[in-house]
Amino acid sequence: MLSKVVIANRGEIALRILRACREMGIQTVAVHSAADRDLKHVRLADESVCIGPNPSAESYLNIPAVISAAEVTDAVAIHPGYGFLSENADFAEQVEKSGFIFIGPKSETIRLMGDKVSAIAAMKKAGVPCVPGSDGILGEDGNLNLKLAREIGYPVIIKASGGGGGRGMRVVRSEAALLNAITLTKSEAAAAFSNDEVYMEKYLENPRHIEFQVLADKHGNAIHLGERDCSMQRRHQKVIEEAPAPGLSEEIRNKIGERCAQACRDIGYHGAGTFEFLYENGEFYFIEMNTRLQVEHTVTEEITGIDIVCEQLRIADNEALSYKQEDIEIKGHAIECRLNAENPDNFMPSPGLIELYHAAGGPGVRLDTHIYNGYKVPPYYDSMIGKLITHSDSRESAMARMRIALSEIIIDGIKTNIPLHQRLLNDSGFQAGGINIHYLENKLGMN
Ligand code: ADP
Repeated sequence: MLSKVVIANRGEIALRILRACREMGIQTVAVHSAADRDLKHVRLADESVCIGPNPSAESYLNIPAVISAAEVTDAVAIHPGYGFLSENADFAEQVEKSGFIFIGPKSETIRLMGDKVSAIAAMKKAGVPCVPGSDGILGEDGNLNLKLAREIGYPVIIKASGGGGGRGMRVVRSEAALLNAITLTKSEAAAAFSNDEVYMEKYLENPRHIEFQVLADKHGNAIHLGERDCSMQRRHQKVIEEAPAPGLSEEIRNKIGERCAQACRDIGYHGAGTFEFLYENGEFYFIEMNTRLQVEHTVTEEITGIDIVCEQLRIADNEALSYKQEDIEIKGHAIECRLNAENPDNFMPSPGLIELYHAAGGPGVRLDTHIYNGYKVPPYYDSMIGKLITHSDSRESAMARMRIALSEIIIDGIKTNIPLHQRLLNDSGFQAGGINIHYLENKLGMN
């Protein structure tokens, strides 16, 4: 097994990775910014290295500093978690070139899937269903672009090939607006992503967000672990996730999941990964692949009993997958509420001192968090401070457990979005299941 791993992240996911390493007898190195000396995983790690000042650009995104930390501690591998450097192909490449194992796919795979146009082309080739749209990037010929949009049918969406984080997209509802929208999106994309390539897709009006979890090893084996429904979103940020997706049949799950696993075999993917789809009127449309561990991997772990982080570590160590597709059984239902340090009314971040913390517990309750009594949430990073996950035999029972857990948990001193979650768990639309990606913003009166 890997002897020592650098955890190149912070907060709850750093702690999650640390726990998996400890379970497998792997030594850990925590790298952290100056502000993060008191993080729980920094205290628990075998070694820790301060890699820079508070701003993430100078610490968690500082590639030479992270690699040096691996060098000085004699680590063998680096786990990037999610966010930060996790989908940075240059980072993965430098990790590989410096002689360390990057816990994730090959850098060239990250590059292939990081460019949306090349990702879509690879998926089409593998038989994964995609959104009807331009075959590749849009050219300069306005007449051709008008013709293409007419064939696809309005509304269409113009998307930057190098876009990410919900940026670099523009919906076009009429022919009169098309050419100007293409020009604008191109110039914005050039400024934001140093790449002015854009493509066109059919704009789906009321889709759900459903994604498939995959695991693939370095020996050509790939399996899927079913899907998650992450339609409860605000500004493209997921708020609640659940698995399985309400109302999805086993037959469709197996069909789409197998296509995703096959795509992994086709592109030589290894590690954990997620295929994101929009789902409308019974059809799946691939939008992008995340080549890393995701925040919401927990709900999949709960319904399959598989530890995805331990599997990542085994795959990185050249082991074959511990499971075959026929071993995967989906049991019950799991829900995750992302806990954020923010004002539940206006969503403004609310960093500061946690004066009192009391965890929720009981059967089927999992709380992945790094906070503790007296911990100070710094203002420099993402506002997520933990994830509350419940699991039970049925969706109704998982929701009941979530309502109880939300009523038990106490986080005083800062504001959190727990009141929002309580509202959503009592919402008839959420309770019925199968809401679309605009549901929360409509409910909040944002549209
Ligand atoms: P990013 O990498 O920026 O997250 P995605 O391609 O994943 O970009 O799209 C982000 C979000 O934009 C989707 O979750 C969905 O809400 C919306 N979106 C993207 N493509 C379409 C489409 N063709 N129709 C409708 N909505 C879309």
